[in-house]
Amino acid sequence: MKCMIDYQAAHDLLKDRVVLVTGAGDGIGRAAAKVFAAHGATVVLLGRTIAKLEAVYDEIEAAGGPQPAIYPLNLEGAAVADYQHMAETLDKEFGRLDGLLHNAGLLGRITPVEQYNPALWEQVMQVNINGPIWMTQALLPLLKQSQDASVIFTSSSVGRKGRAFWGAYAVSKFATEGFVDVLADEQENVSPIRVNSLNPGATRTQMRKTAYPGEDPDALRTPEDIMPTYLWLMGPDSRAHSGERFDAQPPRH
Ligand code: NDP
Repeated sequence: MKCMIDYQAAHDLLKDRVVLVTGAGDGIGRAAAKVFAAHGATVVLLGRTIAKLEAVYDEIEAAGGPQPAIYPLNLEGAAVADYQHMAETLDKEFGRLDGLLHNAGLLGRITPVEQYNPALWEQVMQVNINGPIWMTQALLPLLKQSQDASVIFTSSSVGRKGRAFWGAYAVSKFATEGFVDVLADEQENVSPIRVNSLNPGATRTQMRKTAYPGEDPDALRTPEDIMPTYLWLMGPDSRAHSGERFDAQPPRH
């Protein structure tokens, strides 16, 4: 297991970099967007609930971070043309993209495969893996122009060892790990883009509460607690690493 929870980031680690965060309106994505901005990044806040994105925008501005941007998009309904439009817009507005955190995710239902609703299964695959794949494809030309772009895919412990009842969510995270291997291998020695997977571990968010309703949330790390590994992977200190699996916190016992 590779975990950088004790990493101490330089305050200007992400200065002059443009970083896109999906699912930036809540939970881990919200914390990541704020901490990236606090370390100098111009953050593009992507998500489906505009009011939540606006609240994060305001928090970043109030904290004195570089002015962020909001990119409203529902990954469930987005098509390849939408991602191409996104790439054109980012190119026009910023002329660069140095980091991409695929964080948006859908839990689906914790239920046996025998009872899994096929429409829900496809919805989870769309949001958790198909959308991120086509978004990445569209953004590759822009990422290639960066001196050391970092692409981070969010995984899960059930994306590394399957578990009963986790259905589409687990399968989508296994697919995520596979896509990281494929893309990292393709980019090795041909571009300065690094691609890694990151498992946040049990973290106090709405998704975790839905998955484990009986759990005491106070026993969990907060999204802010796990940010050192996010910063390390997004910034230049992780430049030499690609095609690897990371954990944002040590396993709980
Ligand atoms: P939350 O449910 O708190 O936040 C998920 C975010 O993704 C929300 O901002 C949500 O938007 C956004 N999102 C969901 N569906 C879509 C969509 N169709 N289009 C655009 N945005 C969407 O989850 P977490 O913060 O807990 O999870 C973040 C990531 O970490 C996920 O990939 C998850 O699988 C992973 N993870 C989390 C763990 C945990 O313990 N929390 C453990 C392991 C992995 P909105 O606010 O509008 O709903």
